[in-house]
Amino acid sequence: MNVTITQRGEERVRTGHPWIYKSDVAKVEASGGDTVTVAGPRGRPLGQALYSDRSEIALRLLSRGAEPADPLIWKSRLSQGMDRLLPDITQLLVELVAPLGILARNDPRVRLLEGLEQKVEVLYGTVPATVEVREGQVSYAVDLHHGQKTGLFLDQRENRLAAAQYARGRLLDAFSYHGGFALALAPKCDEVVAIDISEDAVARIRTNAERNGLANVRARAMNVFDELRELERRGERFDTIVLDPPAFAKNKAALQKALSGYKEINLRAIKLLSPGGVLITCSCSYNVTEGDFADVLASAAVDAHAEVSVVEKRMQGRDHPVLLTVPETYYLKCFILRKLG
Ligand code: SAH
Repeated sequence: MNVTITQRGEERVRTGHPWIYKSDVAKVEASGGDTVTVAGPRGRPLGQALYSDRSEIALRLLSRGAEPADPLIWKSRLSQGMDRLLPDITQLLVELVAPLGILARNDPRVRLLEGLEQKVEVLYGTVPATVEVREGQVSYAVDLHHGQKTGLFLDQRENRLAAAQYARGRLLDAFSYHGGFALALAPKCDEVVAIDISEDAVARIRTNAERNGLANVRARAMNVFDELRELERRGERFDTIVLDPPAFAKNKAALQKALSGYKEINLRAIKLLSPGGVLITCSCSYNVTEGDFADVLASAAVDAHAEVSVVEKRMQGRDHPVLLTVPETYYLKCFILRKLG
């Protein structure tokens, strides 16, 4: 099974990128889900790849050059677009980590773009309705089956611990979900206000706070955009603010609107900060680069008439790897800022 790609595709492979988009595919002699040999326009073998006939990402390279892919590749690298290999992968995971159970959270919408159905299923053993996860000093009850993503935003784990070093006084945790930042920072603060639009999330913040004996956490179901405006109108002040919204730019077309969303919440948060206060602000849209995000933050600071310094620039937890040659892998940016005055 073979796929021939364009000159531009071949150059992309040379620079180290593991994905070839549909627009750079010239000729296909394979069907979706096949492992194929990839060749350049003049027939040069470039490597082996997984082929998808539905996704914009038509080829995902498994190996480079003329050598075939190592049949044991899945042992060291679990990649996307490989539904057909699920039984093998399940078996390898059982051998590698001997888990009590394996749950496949194959429900993200992106699967529809790959022509795959969305489903949540237990692949092995048993998976309880909730499990206890400890992170730093905090114990969370996590719903693996129904929670967003894996039930806990693990990519923010290191940022929550970092943020706790700066937290003090009155904290506002906006887009709190189950209280990830609120609970990690609460022991350092006098008062915590956690807001999320979802009633269900707010109920979980409350039970998580109770379970950790954190009596200073108040949770409210609100739209952050409305609530920031209302807090500003009432002249409220906070010493620490966390902004951790969902990805505003899910694709390139949504970029401009996303940037104005980021600008609005950051502008209002900077205004709500007391002098010397700290803002922990995140963007998990991979279409918004670190540079874009820094520009938005700078213009928010200018409009708020505030002088703001960058205390730390952080990213997703280290178990969500960033590849230098694949900028799409650097999706989560987290700036820790201080309002000087
Ligand atoms: N900070 C969390 C993760 C946040 S995920 C953690 O550390 O675990 C993003 C959250 O934003 C989701 O819970 C979602 O319900 C909430 N959300 C999305 N749009 C919102 C809005 N306009 N106002 C308030 N919350 C919103």
